[in-house]
This record gives sequence, C-alpha cells and structure tokens, in this order.
Amino acid sequence: MRTITSIKDLKNAIKASKLSGKTVGFVPTMGYLHDGHASLLKYSIEDNEYTVLSIFVNPIQFSVNEDFSKYPRDIARDVHIAEGLGVDIIFVPTVEEMYPEGFKTCVEIEQITNKLCGATRPGHFKGVATVVNKLFNIIGPDRAYFGQKDAQQAAVIKQMVKDMNMNVEIIVCPIVREADGLAMSSRNVYLSPGEKKAATILSETLFAAGKLIQDGERDKGKVLGFITSQISSEPLARIEYTDIVNADTLEDIKVIQGRVLVALAVKIGNTRLIDNIVTDAGLI
Ligand code: AMP
Repeated sequence: MRTITSIKDLKNAIKASKLSGKTVGFVPTMGYLHDGHASLLKYSIEDNEYTVLSIFVNPIQFSVNEDFSKYPRDIARDVHIAEGLGVDIIFVPTVEEMYPEGFKTCVEIEQITNKLCGATRPGHFKGVATVVNKLFNIIGPDRAYFGQKDAQQAAVIKQMVKDMNMNVEIIVCPIVREADGLAMSSRNVYLSPGEKKAATILSETLFAAGKLIQDGERDKGKVLGFITSQISSEPLARIEYTDIVNADTLEDIKVIQGRVLVALAVKIGNTRLIDNIVTDAGLI
C-alpha cells in the first residue's frame, strides 16, 4: 500500500494501474476510520482490482461554528487499518494541496441540498460536492462507495454524477451499527459514556418508527410526532430535525407511500448525530 500526498503522484499511480487494465474503486472519507468506513473499503476491494481511500477533513464543508479543528484525526492508525484491509493507495492531501491559493470554483446542487442536513448546515453540501468532484477528477474511479449513513450526501452525489454525466458508478452501502444500534461515526468519540448510552435513542426511535410504518401507519405527522416525543423523552437529546421523504429523490411527501427515508439529526450534549432508516411502505 502506498500513502500519497500529492495530486500529481496520485494521478501517475492511477494512470499506471489503469494502463494495466485494472478497475478502480474509490472510498472518500474524513478518516478516523471505523467499521462503517471498513465496510465501504471491503465492498470496493471485492468489486475492483484497485482501491483508493482518501482521507481529507475538508474545511469547506464545515461552517465556522462547527468542529473542523477538533475533528478526530489519527493517520497512523488509519494507515494500519487500511493496510490490513488490502487498500492499494491512501491519498492524504493537505488543505493547500486541495485548495491552493487562487482556488475559485465550487459545485452547487440545487433543491435537494436545501432540506434535512442542508437546511441546518448551509454551504455543507456545496463543500462536499466540490471536494468529491475534485477527487473524482483526480482519480477517475470506475466505482465510488458512499454510506447510507449520510443518505442526503449519497443522493446529492448521485444527482451530481447524473447531471454532469460523470463516468462513475455510485454505490451506496448499508449503515454499520454498534451492537446497541448506534450508527458508527467518527464523531461518536466525542460522546461521554452517559451520552453514548443516551444516543441509542436515535436508532431505537427510528426502528420503532419503521415498525409503525410497516404496521400500516401512513400519516406522516403521526410518525413524526411519535419520533419527536420519543427523542424528547431523553433529557440529553435535542432534535435538530426529523423528516420523512421519498428515499430516492428526497422529495417531500404528504402521505407515507413507496420507499421512504426516515431521517433525523439530534444533538446529544454538544455532539450532533445523524441517523436514518429506509422502509418500503408500498402503495396506499
Ligand atoms: P466520513 O469519514 O464520516 O465523511 O464518512 C466517509 C464515508 O463513510 C461516507 O460515505 C459515509 O456515509 C460512510 N460512513 C460513515 N459512517 C458509516 C456507517 N456507520 N456505516 C456505513 N457507512 C458509513
């Protein structure tokens, strides 16, 4: 496995592997790897002859009051994990390498970025789309792997790839959870033991909401009311948003029908956590 920090070296390494006819899988991350990231890497390694992992805490997707500077980082540990999994290249650029002086271009995807996380994190998806666009241009992967954990991010990237006719297949992989249901996240390290316990309210509530839908509840307001009351029963939890939308387009729905995404963002203490489920409500 090679660790590469320059765009030029990465392009050369990939050119060589493409010339030898290898398919390239790509997993973009912000590092501090956990089993959720590992699952994406495993899918890529299984599907492709060559796998590139990027680790870059992308400053332009954080707003000023967010956790960019304290976001957890441990490159040595990440290198060890990636090597053990069989990753071919880790790309770890500096901020200056990705955004040199004079950088002026951003990618903005409209409408689907205005809701859910986009409503409470203005500019976030512009930062995500810009960095992913750059990474796709540098790497030229055949397939790129994203987690359902960040459902809106996956939808935004799919939209960008479709709209911009990009030659990459986007593969969305299932959420990996702790034994107690908590969705794995690099940010879970911020949680105290008490907060970690409290955070199980997110998945418990989502699973119970999914059961309500599976049992026939089609009233969106009722399911959202249930979610709000469940989460509010946890003193450490503060809801940022909860919504039920079309799982593929993220469009608003009036009545629960078809494949729906039940999504939420909740603060446990000072830590913002997101989680979601997709459930098929069939037709009304
Ligand atoms: P991050 O490093 O948090 O930006 O995440 C990098 C990629 O890993 C994104 O595509 C995430 O959706 C995905 N990911 C993060 N957590 C999980 C998880 N618990 N299960 C599956 N994928 C995840």
